Amino acid sequence: MKYVSTRGKAAAKTFTQTVIEGLARDGGLLVPERIPVLSEKLEKLKTLSYKDLALEIFLPFVDGEVSKDTLAHIIELSYSSFSAPEVTPLRFADSVVVLELFHGPTLAFKDVALQFLGNLFENILKNEQISINIVGATSGDTGSAAIHGVRGKENIKIFMLHPQGKVSPIQERQMTTVLDENVFNIAVEGTFDDTQRIVKEVFNDLAFKDKYNLGAVNSINWARVMAQIVYYFYAAFRFKERYRDLPVVFSVPTGNFGDIYAGYIAKRMGLPIEKLILATNENDILFRVLNSGLYKIGVVQPTLSPSMDIQISSNFERFLFEIVEREGEMVCRKMDDLASKGGFSLSLDQLAIAQKDFTAIRVDTSQMLDTIKKYRKSGITLDPHTAIGVAASEKTKYSKVICLATAHPAKFGDAIVRATGETPDIPESLAGIEEKKTKCLSSKQDYREIKRIIEAELAQQG
Ligand SMILES: *Cc1c(COP(=O)(O)O)cnc(C)c1O
Repeated sequence: MKYVSTRGKAAAKTFTQTVIEGLARDGGLLVPERIPVLSEKLEKLKTLSYKDLALEIFLPFVDGEVSKDTLAHIIELSYSSFSAPEVTPLRFADSVVVLELFHGPTLAFKDVALQFLGNLFENILKNEQISINIVGATSGDTGSAAIHGVRGKENIKIFMLHPQGKVSPIQERQMTTVLDENVFNIAVEGTFDDTQRIVKEVFNDLAFKDKYNLGAVNSINWARVMAQIVYYFYAAFRFKERYRDLPVVFSVPTGNFGDIYAGYIAKRMGLPIEKLILATNENDILFRVLNSGLYKIGVVQPTLSPSMDIQISSNFERFLFEIVEREGEMVCRKMDDLASKGGFSLSLDQLAIAQKDFTAIRVDTSQMLDTIKKYRKSGITLDPHTAIGVAASEKTKYSKVICLATAHPAKFGDAIVRATGETPDIPESLAGIEEKKTKCLSSKQDYREIKRIIEAELAQQG
């Protein structure tokens, strides 16, 4: 299987190149040249455990570049770190169906992809006898999941920047209590946007990037999308065992369009999904584009669901590529408009194609808080991101919707207190985290200082 760029100007890549390089050379995102269809295999796939299902779903994408045995081993390693035997259990309550994606080491759904990506990286790097240095910026969830994905791994070092004092205390601790030698947390003065800009500036120094073989783990990496396809299949099968006659509908709290795009790919692979409900908070660029056809960047508004506080959804470009029937030229034109005019628009035909698969719904903070409060009364604690997906599902005509629970409520205790007046129970993995030893460097808001830190640490470790 080859991977092609959404902008149509870069050479096709193999699976391993796609995983290591992340972004295409023409600035586009890499997607499989065709989407494998598993319709004929659904009966067999239904009977598989999560891990065996993951193997069957990955095989056509990996296409022999990693052997079947090795891939099975990587999957086993990655998902044994989850505290739930089913990895992503589907919970049926009277009032709501919740797909629990937060049983990984950092209690957010990003572990599903990043535990796998860390092990896959390690395997590929060993075979190619190369090493990489991952550099990234985080506002919380991605950074801790990435650090836990690569900690202790050979041939990988990770430098994760976060805005000093601006990530939640639990998220900060989840990062800085990791003491492995290959992990470097850097607290940077300024906001998350400043931190992200600095990372871009470091990557823009191509000589530096090549010299130190810098890599990224952001959500544009195809392997992350691939890993997330599995739980759509797994959940749809469990749902159908109980509700044979109901359509399968998912509600997904969305930021960067990575998670829900995996659901779209699952549908294209032959999984009968009737609709994907795209739920946004006040940062509603995706709600606007899917209802009006206009994709226009706004100003990021900080909310109680911070992992969805995004105004440019990078993975949307992959779906755009499908909407315009894989015409790279057209994607380029729209992306040029985005860069020069701050937006682009879809034609009516293109909008109709997009609306076939997605219904987008915006949920504001007060609706989100009401939803947490309402479900708390029946003994279910939703985290603020999950509550947005649940609230969105209630605004549709569907009686049973699979709502993706993207984080454990204990990660976002402030919102739970605001909604209910109670603090959520702390799961075992977070117990004692306040007392643990931490390791963290700090830096001024200056990419030259970040480069000096990276150079110094790498020189020291050799
Ligand atoms: C990252 C994240 C999201 C948004 O997922 P995308 O793939 O960016 O759409 C939602 N909820 C939580 C808890 C997250 O960490």
